[in-house]
Amino acid sequence: MIDLHLHTTASDGTWTPEQLVTGVVAAGVQVFSVTDHDTTAALSAVATLAARHGLTFVPGIEISAIHDGHDVHLLGYAFDPAAASLDDLLRTLRAARITRVGEIAGRLADLGAPIDVASLEHAAQRQPERSIGRPQVARALVAAGHAATVDEAFDRFLATGRPAHVTRRSVSPADVVSAIGGAGGIVSLAHPGLLRRDDWVPWLVTQGVVALEVYHSSHDRGDEQRYRALAESMGVAVSGGSDDHGPASGRPPSLGTVGLPRDDYEELRRCARRHGCCQWPE
Ligand code: AMP
Ligand code: MN
Ligand code: MN
Ligand code: MN
Repeated sequence: MIDLHLHTTASDGTWTPEQLVTGVVAAGVQVFSVTDHDTTAALSAVATLAARHGLTFVPGIEISAIHDGHDVHLLGYAFDPAAASLDDLLRTLRAARITRVGEIAGRLADLGAPIDVASLEHAAQRQPERSIGRPQVARALVAAGHAATVDEAFDRFLATGRPAHVTRRSVSPADVVSAIGGAGGIVSLAHPGLLRRDDWVPWLVTQGVVALEVYHSSHDRGDEQRYRALAESMGVAVSGGSDDHGPASGRPPSLGTVGLPRDDYEELRRCARRHGCCQWPE
């Protein structure tokens, strides 16, 4: 199985690199990528563990861009994590995340649902290479007894349109494409079924997005068929992965249940090569 969308404790996942690789092996995944939000902090540890287990590991990232008030999640693959221009962008985005979590916590306090935001902020300042976001706030709301589950915390407080939601400050999709491209990688549009703006896909392709994430744990068969047809009509490649965030993340486990077919993976790799990407593993 091939899974190109996974998270670790470097962002909002609950798997450490060791636990993730153990889980990947147990699920029968042979080719995988780690795509933490706005950080590459886990990549070198995971790459070392993957090599030890004979697994193929593609360096990845999920960057939250913004367009017309909507978060647009973009997956970057096979870039050089040490590239300075990419690193500069990621530092800026992680700093904006810390500010945003502080603002969300302020709203929660006003709403009578205070959380221990100081410990979240201290952890983020101690380890600035890791990113924080709403899932950690949701877990803090559960810990403080203000919500029974992570889902309830999003539904009541944190989701778009809910009272503690704070608009993200981020860069455009074109800026993300330029940072990933400058680091030698390619960009796929994450979970278009969650974005629900199919009408933006042609525009995103003109901005340099070269693949669509057709396979994702939130997509049903109808979504897969629709996005495959859209990818074909746009002449872009297909990516896919579970988006598993680990046990205790408050989301149903999906590792090993969603994968990218081998033919699509090979086509994605050819697409990367055509775009001058030289970091894709054999
Ligand atoms: P942020 O990066 O702070 O905008 O938080 C977005 C992340 O929250 C996503 O990557 C998901 O992991 C998670 N998320 C978004 N919506 C929900 C939800 N309704 N329930 C649980 N997790 C969610
Ligand atoms: Mn996430
Ligand atoms: Mn996402
Ligand atoms: Mn994700």
